[in-house]
Parts: sequence; structure tokens; C-alpha cells
Amino acid sequence: MGYIRTKGIVIKEVNTGEADKVVTIFSAHSGKITGYAKGARRPKSRLAAGTQFLCYSDLVLFKGKELCNIYSSDVIDSFYELREDIVKLTYSAHMVDLISDVVMENQPASKVLQLFLNTLHVLAKTDRSPELVTRVFELRLLSLLGYAPYVRGCIQCGKSELEDTYFSFKKCGFLCEECLINDTYASKISKGTAKAMNFIIHAPLRLLFNFALSKEALEELGKIVKKYLRERLDKDYTKLDFLKCL
Ligand SMILES: [Zn+2]
Repeated sequence: MGYIRTKGIVIKEVNTGEADKVVTIFSAHSGKITGYAKGARRPKSRLAAGTQFLCYSDLVLFKGKELCNIYSSDVIDSFYELREDIVKLTYSAHMVDLISDVVMENQPASKVLQLFLNTLHVLAKTDRSPELVTRVFELRLLSLLGYAPYVRGCIQCGKSELEDTYFSFKKCGFLCEECLINDTYASKISKGTAKAMNFIIHAPLRLLFNFALSKEALEELGKIVKKYLRERLDKDYTKLDFLKCL
């Protein structure tokens, strides 16, 4: 029987049997893995900590016929801060929804995993705005998936210094005022939002969250990214609606 040694983060946990769990892991080794954690709900189980939602661990799994059996999990970061804060937990759950849709089984997605872990780290350990952190994650994720919009200038005429900038959903990039004709769906965006989008798409990962944005620009960025996300992934993600009820 083969075994897998990998780092991975739990993106779903379902209780089963008397004290067991079935968990979905986003692993470095092979993308999404479904793992059976026998006895993990017993308080003294050596799998209790490492099989919680959003826990990042060093794992050893044995390949079964359909599922993998989790043999051991050594916690690297439990991200407990995210489970103790309903707002942060809601944003995390939204990001997990995206991850679940774009990461496949048996397909390593190391850049997506690195982005996800960095994002959770900033969300858990800093007081950066969860909304900004999430928008950065969404746009960068789309870029990693090959959907980076063109934001270095006008996508139509190539001009790089734009007086007024418009975002074209049709052309997937910025438009200048002259090229705006024939695209009634393009949205005008402020210089701050345009600069932020350029940064999010091109900055090195370690610097990705090192910028601030005004409330107005964040709102504008949110509208653009949400619509772009919906169009590219062809789905409405609704977890964040819950925040309106708080
Ligand atoms: Zn142009």
C-alpha cells in the first residue's frame, strides 16, 4: 500500500461514524485529497488538532481504494485566530469556496496553495482589513488561473499614461477615454484603484499585502473584482452575504 507524505490544509471536515471524520485537504503533493481520519473526534486522538477546518499540517496518508487514510498530522499552523472571529471565519470560508472550485484532485497547485497560506496568515495574524485582504486574494487567484486582466495601460491602443482609466469586462483590461467607444459596460475607475490592481497582479508574493487603499478605492475595487470573478468563474459566491446580517 502506498503512502503520501505532504503538507496540506483542511478545507472541509465532515463528521462520520462514532468518532471519525472525513476531511478534504488542499495538499502540496497532489491538490485536493479526501482523507479519512479514524477516531479524530476523540479528544485524545493524535489526529484531533490537525484535522480541524483550516489547520495546516505535515501529513502522512495511506492510499486506500477510494479515500486516503490519515495516519498522522503534525500541526504547522492551526490558524485558530480565524475560527475564533466570525468575520475572519466568514471571509476564510468564502476563499475556501473559491479554492474548492479551482483546485482539482491529483493536480498540484503550489502557487495557489502559497497564495492561500499567505492570505490566511495576513488575515489571522494582522489587523489588515479582511475585505481588502480578500479582494487581493481574489484578483491574484484569477491571475494565477490565467485570467489576469491587462492593467499596464490601454488594452486597445497600448497607451500607458492614462488620464482617465476605464475597466473593460469585455476586453479584460483597462481602456483609455478614446478607446471607450463601443464598450458601454466599461466602468470608470480612480487612479488609486488602477494602481492597486496593477500592484495586486504584478507584485512579488511577499509584498502582496503591503499597501493601503482608501475606503472609496476599496469599494470600487470590490465592485470590479466581484463582477470580474463572477464572469470568469461563472458562479455567484454568496458566503460573504452573511456579513450583512451581523
Ligand atoms: Zn486606448
